Amino acid sequence: MQDCTFCRIIAGEAPAEILYQDEHLTAFFDQNPQAPVHVLIVPNKHLENLREAKADDTPLLGELLWRAAELAREQGISSQGYRLVLNVGRQGGQSVPHLHLHLLGGRRLRWPPG
Ligand code: AMP
Ligand code: ZN
Repeated sequence: MQDCTFCRIIAGEAPAEILYQDEHLTAFFDQNPQAPVHVLIVPNKHLENLREAKADDTPLLGELLWRAAELAREQGISSQGYRLVLNVGRQGGQSVPHLHLHLLGGRRLRWPPG
């Protein structure tokens, strides 16, 4: 998807500080961090959001969660705790239409979110 910012980051055509990439997933720092550690983990294939995921995508969704746990360890926030956020659609607060998991940590996070 040429007009999708995250697809362009995945393809190396738009700038981002990439932390991890394999054949299925890419992770990079959020450009507007909401916590000392704020990483976005995205599938390389363009899925608009979780609503678009099919049963065939369940291994990919599992990899997304596992990678978040690994990156949390690598970023040194795992033992203190962290939060994963997956915004879906307009009322869910999704602003970029390419499925992404937020990994947030490094400070105490409040609940419930706004
Ligand atoms: P959401 O509101 O869940 O759709 O989150 C989108 C996130 O993507 C926001 O936290 C933005 O700061 C972040 N973002 C948007 N464009 C970029 C970009 N080019 N590089 C890094 N992060 C981005
Ligand atoms: Zn995309």
